[in-house]
Amino acid sequence: MFNINPNGPTLVKSLNEHGLGPDDIHEVILTHLHFDHVGGGVRAEGSRLVPTFPKARYSIQRANLTTASHPNLRERSSYFASNFQPLIDHQVLHILEGPQTNYLPGVSLFISNGHTEGQQLVKISDNGLSLLYAGDLVPTSTHVRTAWLMGYDLNPVLLMEEKQKYLSMVAEEKGYLFFEHDPYCDAALIEKIGSDFQVSQRFWL
Ligand SMILES: [Zn+2]
Repeated sequence: MFNINPNGPTLVKSLNEHGLGPDDIHEVILTHLHFDHVGGGVRAEGSRLVPTFPKARYSIQRANLTTASHPNLRERSSYFASNFQPLIDHQVLHILEGPQTNYLPGVSLFISNGHTEGQQLVKISDNGLSLLYAGDLVPTSTHVRTAWLMGYDLNPVLLMEEKQKYLSMVAEEKGYLFFEHDPYCDAALIEKIGSDFQVSQRFWL
């Protein structure tokens, strides 16, 4: 159903291409615990599941951990304890409450509750440039339009309000918007058109 290819690219393989390995990673920011956004955070070691990045602190919002631990009927096929319980057991899960300004140098976290409770969005700023890693707030460049939502979104009206807020920020700053699910591009510049938004330039990174 999800067309997962075990011989395809993985997070660790991609890091290796840049001369890095799991031990080099010290911070992992989890936007939310839906399986397609956290599944690479643990790996099998014999019959046990252990953190993929043994020296890393993994951060998550408490509201998202709570809903993932007791998923509602709509989301229970998207939250699997095997993806995050090993992080709790190994005491590497760092639980945050609310937005974080400068969580790390140049890295701030914003909260969005329209897709699921307690999703955190990651904004990276450096030398006048910014990039918003928007998780499932805006999964593909097609979803830049305010009213174009996913059937997976729990609260569509709230999600539209959050898109207005965060995409206004991105458009005003002329920042990059990064998409987790777009098969045709990784990031884009966007512009505000009246009360809506559109892509002005797409990028492969
Ligand atoms: Zn999701």
